[in-house]
Amino acid sequence: MIVTPKIRGFICTTAHPEGCAKHVSDQIAVVKSGGILAEGPKKVLVIGSSTGYGLSSRIAAAFGSNAATIGVFFERPAEDGRTATAGWYNTAAFEKEAKEAGLYARSFNGDAYSDPIKAEVIEAIKADLGQVDCVVYSLASPRRTDPKTGEVFKSVLKPIGGVYTNKTLNTTTGVVSEISIEPAQGDDIAQTVAVMGGEDWELWIDALMAAGVLADGVQTVSYSYIGPEVTWPIYKNGTIGKAKEDLERVQQALDEKLAPLNGKAWVSVNKALVTQASSAIPVVPLYISLLYKIMKAEGTHEDCIEQMDRLFRDRLYSGAPLPDESGRIRVDDWEMKPAVQALIAKRWTEVNTENLAEFGDFAGYQSSFLRLFGFGLDGVDYSADTDTAVSIPSIG
Ligand code: NAD
Repeated sequence: MIVTPKIRGFICTTAHPEGCAKHVSDQIAVVKSGGILAEGPKKVLVIGSSTGYGLSSRIAAAFGSNAATIGVFFERPAEDGRTATAGWYNTAAFEKEAKEAGLYARSFNGDAYSDPIKAEVIEAIKADLGQVDCVVYSLASPRRTDPKTGEVFKSVLKPIGGVYTNKTLNTTTGVVSEISIEPAQGDDIAQTVAVMGGEDWELWIDALMAAGVLADGVQTVSYSYIGPEVTWPIYKNGTIGKAKEDLERVQQALDEKLAPLNGKAWVSVNKALVTQASSAIPVVPLYISLLYKIMKAEGTHEDCIEQMDRLFRDRLYSGAPLPDESGRIRVDDWEMKPAVQALIAKRWTEVNTENLAEFGDFAGYQSSFLRLFGFGLDGVDYSADTDTAVSIPSIG
């Protein structure tokens, strides 16, 4: 079948198998260009490994440190004339390349919040690897089912305390307009914390530890975002920000729990990037468009793979993680440079639909978004028939 992008709002309902494979191999090439990190992780579990930061973490660990990797994600294979999701194709391509490179890779498709998937993954670690020395937690989800009570929590992206009005970007049309977002109500905050906070990260580490599958000196990392003041009402000080605060609470609890293993838990604050998760947040895509323009112009722009490669090489396994005053790793350091932020603040007041191409990198935003689904990659013949029924070797 000939696969073309079908965009509905901030999601694309199709994905291109060869394009996703090319996206993965491009990321592998970035990591390989840095050489092998001898002191890097050797056996890595990535929870949320199929797209965005989690996929890049898996690639950085495998191809930057020759690590064996186990990945967990929630994706859909092709069926009834529909393509598979991008994360499915990404994982199929990753496993193929890992196998060719002689690297162990096994994947689990299911609900990472559930007890059965945790048990399955633990059995696989015991059988195949014995223990893991690094656990990356990179889930982004709109909902979570509590494994004990069955209650379904829903996360919302809302300000707290009052209506938030600001500029936003329609990422399909390029129209800049004003948006007003109603504040959180009822148990919105608690629900969002239950989904995107640290509870499940802690449940994973508890289960892995109880099973004895965490190696001495294990490191675990989860991802957060802070960003500029202009987005604080919807991000840092909004419902999602409360969930990220909870992640830091859990990071401290995990530090204590992992101490007998000489282990360490981290929260890494990453750069704002186009991913399936971030494109759903109002206001943020306009900020990302302005940010890309400035960082590309000064030669400091990074995508998920450069961010994760830098996290592994220059922070987690460098002997100098450079934590901030709250103990967080900051690979958002280049994004948050005062000169970058001052220019964004200036342009933010001026940007409108007419001057978006001048002040922002809307073309870059759109092409990054399409690349997430395997579209617009060099060397892929999009007019050719493609077999959408691709299997993931370790899943079948
Ligand atoms: P993403 O949407 O690209 O990836 C989410 C991953 O979670 C996918 O692998 C998906 O399959 C998996 N997943 C979702 N629900 C699942 C479930 N129930 N069971 C198993 N797997 C499930 O998201 P992302 O942007 O890479 O976000 C990852 C983390 O990075 C989040 O904590 C996010 O807040 C953080 N972060 C993102 C940005 C950004 O700009 N995108 C910036 C800083 C931090």
